[in-house]
Amino acid sequence: RLSENGTNGIAKKAITFGNINGHSLKPKVNLQEQRKNLPIYEKRNKLIELIKQHNTLIVLAETGSGKTTQIPQYINAARIMENGKIAITQPRRVAAISVAMRVAQEYGSGMGVGDYVGYSVRFEDCTSKKTKIKFLTDGMLLREAIADRLLLEYTVVILDEAHERTIHTDVLFGIVKKAQRIRTERHLSPLKIIIMSATMDVDHLSKYFNNCQVVFIEGRTFPVNMYYTVKPHDNYQTACVSTFFKIHRTAPPDHDVLIFLTGQEEIESCAHQIRVLVKDPEVEGPPVKVCTLYAAQPSTQQVAVFQPAPIGTRKVVISTNIAETSVTISGIKYVIDSGMVKSRTFHPSTGMELLKVQRISQEQAWQRSGRAGRESEGHCYRIYSRSQFELMKKNSTPEIQRANLNSVAIQLLALGIHMLHFDFLDKPSNESIETAFEQLKLLGAIEDTDSIALTSLGKKMSKFPLDPRFSRILLSADKYGCLEEALTVVSLLSSESILLNPPSKREEALDARQKFNSGYGDHLTLLNVYREFENIGQNNRKTWCHEHFIHMRNILYVREVRSQLQEICKKCDMRGSSCGSEMDQLRKCLLSGLFMNVAELHRDRQYITLDKRQVTLIHPSSNFHGQQPHCVIYTEVVQTTKCYLRGLTSIDSDWLSEIAPEYTRNHNVKFQRDS
Ligand code: ADP
Ligand code: MG
Repeated sequence: RLSENGTNGIAKKAITFGNINGHSLKPKVNLQEQRKNLPIYEKRNKLIELIKQHNTLIVLAETGSGKTTQIPQYINAARIMENGKIAITQPRRVAAISVAMRVAQEYGSGMGVGDYVGYSVRFEDCTSKKTKIKFLTDGMLLREAIADRLLLEYTVVILDEAHERTIHTDVLFGIVKKAQRIRTERHLSPLKIIIMSATMDVDHLSKYFNNCQVVFIEGRTFPVNMYYTVKPHDNYQTACVSTFFKIHRTAPPDHDVLIFLTGQEEIESCAHQIRVLVKDPEVEGPPVKVCTLYAAQPSTQQVAVFQPAPIGTRKVVISTNIAETSVTISGIKYVIDSGMVKSRTFHPSTGMELLKVQRISQEQAWQRSGRAGRESEGHCYRIYSRSQFELMKKNSTPEIQRANLNSVAIQLLALGIHMLHFDFLDKPSNESIETAFEQLKLLGAIEDTDSIALTSLGKKMSKFPLDPRFSRILLSADKYGCLEEALTVVSLLSSESILLNPPSKREEALDARQKFNSGYGDHLTLLNVYREFENIGQNNRKTWCHEHFIHMRNILYVREVRSQLQEICKKCDMRGSSCGSEMDQLRKCLLSGLFMNVAELHRDRQYITLDKRQVTLIHPSSNFHGQQPHCVIYTEVVQTTKCYLRGLTSIDSDWLSEIAPEYTRNHNVKFQRDS
């Protein structure tokens, strides 16, 4: 219900849009003209000179200057790269795909993405032999480094969005630095490194790269009028919607709005509310085109975000922090900033990795407001008070200092590097490094926490683009005779949710999927959905998905992920097996990788995690909500006002000492078999 900030007031006014031609598009500006208008264009000769002179260069320029889309093209046109390719990393897959599509389009002459310009993200490779400019996620470049430590395929590596300080970019700093040094020492083709950033403490970074050259490119910015809420709001989502309508009532139709929220669910629900409310005949204002932008979105929807709305229609884009610096949308005059972001946080002392909605940093707040002033003067509404802003951290903590390190630790080990001896820009704490190595040891990837060699199991684990816990599940599956099922569950967990829960049809959706429910919990329920999907003929899939509220595109993606993981299993000489209806086999197999994610019922609805004895509850979205299985494994911890476990499978507590004896001994787990 929207009762705050006068949204009800808006609803009382009469409508005024009758004579608007909603279908003629705004005139298109020629792409090449657009390129020439970018701030970076005037500096291109100077930039090329600098890139030729220096092997390492830091480029600093405002978001929207043209760094990501233009610099690779300038380098290419200047023939700096001769035979090699250019790699450009992006922290997010959506950004990698979207900029690759844009650059391919700018190249023109009917060239599609995957030709000269391509991208590579986890489970999706859109490149060919012809590809010279390759956008990839930082995680993918790190994977490539395992196969080719000197990155010889590339002449230029551009680490973009360096200010985001993702764990993979931080590790890549060290990897490319070393690759560059060795290539020079061995008289191999030199490696050019370019670090690009929208903001950053560059002295620190430049020092790390042996005091390399830094170039600042002045952007074009216009003043942004700032508004803060008078008092703090506890429901930022509702406040965002009502603020939108406050703007909508008076702003000219071609003034577009960008709203920052934290994740898919929140964004879809906000989009739904706006779509419903604009249809209300009492709501005043022009027609609205609502676009959403979040991770793993279909590319067709992504394209819509960048397309101008028809004349007389207002566009509102609701986005995660991806629109902060990774992609630029033109036409934005208003920004509404919830002040929140969802991020992964790991507490080495509690051993828990949490997906948590938290306050952004002041730096992020400035980046967000800057999106309103790219083309002319704009406005930014902050859904927090001035004093709340003052309390925000100046900068966000680098991910490497707050994330679980076991994936990266195993990848570095595959490169023959022990994390303790790695040349980090900012070192993670010893405590979290130790935790990661302990976990790898428990998973059987290493013999000892100080060894730099992987066991043969560990070597296989490092071949999967997965958290080591999940690769361990797959590698145990032969033993339990359930590879088919384990592949399905791990693929489902590596993709976006296949379940659709439209806010207006929640009950209906749950009823339609009732028949898939497994008494063993969420993972096995998803397995049931997938199994039935596979039995449906290709022609009936669409109807079936529609009837059961299943996300067709996401389930097809799961299928794709599954077949790629299956390939890797084959390369690891796994036999392939199915457990049919013997679900104990599969549950044991899941436990073999997830024994560190076990919680037991403590008292009324409360679950205690075995690892660090944290008190948690079952998430309302779980199959088990309202039930109280004795012992469960979980795949996600979500913290809102309380701590919730999400993605559950019930297990038999006796299995724990059988499957993970060392762990069980050391954690002094309550349930040990009576003997
Ligand atoms: P930077 O990396 O400096 O933030 P970009 O190179 O990403 O800048 O963007 C330059 C310009 O290209 C942006 O202002 C935007 O208008 C345009 N642009 C970038 N990506 C897209 C896209 N996918 N669709 C349409 N326009 C885009
Ligand atoms: Mg960029």
